[in-house]
Amino acid sequence: MELHITGLSKTYPNGTRALDDVSLTIPTGMFGLLGPNGAGKSTLMRTLATLQEADHGSVQLSGVGSSGASGSTINVLRDKDALRRVLGYLPQDFGVYPKVSAEDMLDHLAQLKGLTNRAERRAEVAALLQQTNLYEVRKKALGGYSGGMRQRFGIAQALLGAPQLIIVDEPTAGLDPEERTRFHNLLAEIGEEVIVLLSTHIVSDVSDLCSNLAIMNRGRVLVSGTPQELTSALTGRVWATTAARTAVAALQERHAVISTRLQAGRTVVHVVADAPPGPGFEAIAPSLEDAYFAAIGGHLGHAADAGTIAEGRFVDAAR
Ligand code: ADP
Repeated sequence: MELHITGLSKTYPNGTRALDDVSLTIPTGMFGLLGPNGAGKSTLMRTLATLQEADHGSVQLSGVGSSGASGSTINVLRDKDALRRVLGYLPQDFGVYPKVSAEDMLDHLAQLKGLTNRAERRAEVAALLQQTNLYEVRKKALGGYSGGMRQRFGIAQALLGAPQLIIVDEPTAGLDPEERTRFHNLLAEIGEEVIVLLSTHIVSDVSDLCSNLAIMNRGRVLVSGTPQELTSALTGRVWATTAARTAVAALQERHAVISTRLQAGRTVVHVVADAPPGPGFEAIAPSLEDAYFAAIGGHLGHAADAGTIAEGRFVDAAR
């Protein structure tokens, strides 16, 4: 299966250009869409989930209904009903009816999804409650669920009807570390035969889970590829130094600083540079977080490349 997005643009009536000519190819597996708040991730997710219209562009989902490329192709923006039949969606602002139990709610949603056979529906609901580790609390009202339980319920409802395209929008925001790990494990088990599109502003969500990713900012895709491809583009170009907090501003003036982080009361500063930036800096192996901040800051490309890196994978890094 492959989700093929071409030239997608969206400007809201207030003039905000939320998607600016987004093109992206998303293969089967877990795909991370990484970007800061306001990057356009939710707008892209809602458009793919057929909940809002784009101004321009097209989206095809190919290879549907079979394990190979031979399946059918859905024109996502035009054939909304066909897309909805294979879609599972966990929106960012997922609300629940507080007085209804997880079991009753899932059963109701399963009916809406067209699971009309009662015995089959009950079996699927029970299996999903087991999978998301909610079976013990299935009779409890959703209003009494913790944030982590609620998100796991959100995944359970997204998985109803065996979807092939699963979209989860910022699912770990607000979860504590333990709940996040639990949620990651659940996502990782969903399966390799479907597309799971995960939007997040948390780099470790992506580095833990995703075999491919794209980094977005201001409505544009800055770069896409595997985590290895993104980090190897920075190999030999990330340098670290430790400075007093008061010295950080001066470093920022002189260097392409991509991150500053407090560590034991001192500030660790990461810089992108093609040559050693000076005494006190040591070369470090780039992490995905370095690639993320370098992309957001417009420092992914070599100065001489004017923003494009080999093979055309790194698009518009300088814009
Ligand atoms: P993200 O999910 O990455 O935080 P969004 O897609 O929510 O980004 O938002 C992208 C931009 O579009 C932001 O500037 C946001 O304020 C704006 N935006 C989102 N929804 C609307 C809307 N319904 N009307 C106007 N502007 C919007």
